[in-house]
Amino acid sequence: MEKDRSTIFAPASGAGPAGVAVIRVSGPASGAALRRLCRCEPPPRRLTRVQVSDPVSGDVLDDGLAAWFPAPASFTGEDVVELHIHGGRAVLAAVLDALGGCPGLALAEPGAFTRRAFENGKLDLTAAEGLADLVAAETEAQRSQALRQMQGELGRLYEDWRQRLVENLAHLEAAIDFSDEDLPGDLVGRVREAVGKLSEEIGGHLADGHRGERLRDGFHIAILGPPNVGKSSLLNRLARRDAAIVAETAGTTRDVIEVHLDLGGYPVILADTAGLRDSEDLVEAEGVRRAARRGRESDLRLVVLDAAVWPEVDPPTREMVDAEAVVVVNKIDLREPEPPLKFEGRSVHSVSALTGRGLDGLVERLASTVAERFAGGGAPVLTRARHRQALETCRDALDRYLRAKADELAAEDLRLAVRALGRITGRVDVEDLLDVIFRDFCIGK
Ligand code: GDP
Repeated sequence: MEKDRSTIFAPASGAGPAGVAVIRVSGPASGAALRRLCRCEPPPRRLTRVQVSDPVSGDVLDDGLAAWFPAPASFTGEDVVELHIHGGRAVLAAVLDALGGCPGLALAEPGAFTRRAFENGKLDLTAAEGLADLVAAETEAQRSQALRQMQGELGRLYEDWRQRLVENLAHLEAAIDFSDEDLPGDLVGRVREAVGKLSEEIGGHLADGHRGERLRDGFHIAILGPPNVGKSSLLNRLARRDAAIVAETAGTTRDVIEVHLDLGGYPVILADTAGLRDSEDLVEAEGVRRAARRGRESDLRLVVLDAAVWPEVDPPTREMVDAEAVVVVNKIDLREPEPPLKFEGRSVHSVSALTGRGLDGLVERLASTVAERFAGGGAPVLTRARHRQALETCRDALDRYLRAKADELAAEDLRLAVRALGRITGRVDVEDLLDVIFRDFCIGK
């Protein structure tokens, strides 16, 4: 891979006026740009007070701080400058403009700094993805998962598996290339055993119920039920804002409306759906179809019934009540005194979206259900479909190896498995490692 030798710059802080804005510059021309704009070279890694001036007119643009990180001890591994200036739009525009006028500097593409950090071996692909997730994290659990990934938890796990596999591949190749007398006893048997164990470990990691991926994307709860039972009102209450249209006429919520909630630190996507009923209206019928699909695809169904017409339940609504569904009877304010309600022998949540009664209990129940579904041991979890696909490819190759008869062909499957693991972290230098290990192995003999 040809290394990009250009120097890039971009605001590293968010858009809009703020107390402070940070501009990052990375590449070989960073130091020259710093000297041009600040007319000084601060000591390395010490935040230093500077005046930022326009190099052409000499006008002072701002009074701020600069940090100088000479390569390789920087985020990208290149020479890096950080300018901490005031976060006003005009200040930012003027300083960016001045940087743009420096020889060899160009505005960075999205993700360019992290890409350079990866190319310079500062982080692997899983850590880069963790960093992106950390910046996007909206809830406490997302933050914690992303931070662990950025700090290399997943990368270390996959790299450890890859190393073990490379070692076993080297041993297998040795067994193929050398006669039995030159090698320790039953080398092939030992490789087989180690690969079997690894395949099991990967299988266990894959069978995690998609916890980590769901934590990134959000846990989907669908609100389902007949028209006019108060689904939109309930969503609004739960979201504490007016996200869905609440109307007196039946069948107004024709599409799926979503709100994002933070339930006990876990990200939840709560969707209000069209009322489930048979309809002649084409648009409404489509809404009903979407509602049913949404209900089937969601992680949890919240089925809402109407206390006023209790205990009538239409077949399309009844179908949505599976073992895990949470059954809610709304408009309990219309049935005073509140009767003891059960739905097919199970307890229900009696609430009133109008008065707010019973909603705290419902929120608690939802939060504990979500927490339960996310719960797991402390082991690192899969966070992306990209990793899952590579791990599945890896495990399939390992299983083919375990079933194969001839070692020569089986070695190719192990090679494929190593490559699949390498793709997750971005380490694809299989041959180099093999050479080293193979050489050591032979010398050690
Ligand atoms: P949806 O079609 O299921 O989404 O139902 P809506 O949320 O649009 O509500 C239908 C009607 O029921 C509206 O007039 C609401 O004001 C009313 N409603 C909703 N929840 C309650 C409740 O808890 N008690 C009473 N009395 N009326 C409610």
